[in-house]
Amino acid sequence: KREQVSLEQLQDAVDQFDPKAADTTKFSNLPLSSPTASGIEASHFQAPTDIQARAIPVALKGRDILGAAKTGSGKTLAFLVPVLEKLYRARWTEYDGLGALIISPTRELAVQTFQVLAKIGRFHSFSAGLVIGGKSLKDEAERLGRMSILVCTPGRMLQHLDSTSGLQVDNLQILVLDEADRIMDMGFKSAVDALVEHLPKERQTLLFSATQSRKVSDLSRLSLKDPEYIAVHESA
Ligand code: ADP
Ligand code: MG
Repeated sequence: KREQVSLEQLQDAVDQFDPKAADTTKFSNLPLSSPTASGIEASHFQAPTDIQARAIPVALKGRDILGAAKTGSGKTLAFLVPVLEKLYRARWTEYDGLGALIISPTRELAVQTFQVLAKIGRFHSFSAGLVIGGKSLKDEAERLGRMSILVCTPGRMLQHLDSTSGLQVDNLQILVLDEADRIMDMGFKSAVDALVEHLPKERQTLLFSATQSRKVSDLSRLSLKDPEYIAVHESA
């Protein structure tokens, strides 16, 4: 089948890709699927930002990442592109359970991230949902079983993991902790710890924050495996 051949070619391209040697200053130089490449193009993102140019290549290879770059530097695409690629290459369907979980500190940030996902993921066929409360647990729970990607706040997601039966997380491929410094500042450490307890240990984890702090390294020690540290410093 034609799609299968191109998926194999994509996997070969990823396997052969060397983030250290490659010129990563163009999206078109990265081994990305055509739906993701088209989504980026249609969203008018022309070139990767520094954090994207450094984090996406490493994440595409399956490594865990501890990334730090100031607010406004483009961290959202730095994790959404690897999330889409990971599930696409795994031929993820709605019958495979939850494939990717993205944890945000606030409802507002979760909504923003979901909107960017809807934009750059528009040519993919993944089902994605928001878990931020506001509806009854039961109403929210009914849709969750079919979702491949969820963007959530920690407390609400933990409620579902503790009580929603149709939610299957045993196959989770990739976990993202976004704005990890704010997650810690808002007192969500124990919720995140409890949440991670529900997830399979064999997975990829990407952790991003605006600052590098002691609290963030505490969180990362518990969730990351031999991470690549990527810090983008402010330059003139
Ligand atoms: P952060 O999470 O680091 O604060 P965001 O991911 O929210 O940053 O991105 C900040 C802004 O930069 C957003 O308006 C986003 O649309 C824009 N942006 C992100 N990546 C690119 C890119 N590659 N090219 C142009 N604009 C971008
Ligand atoms: Mg952000």
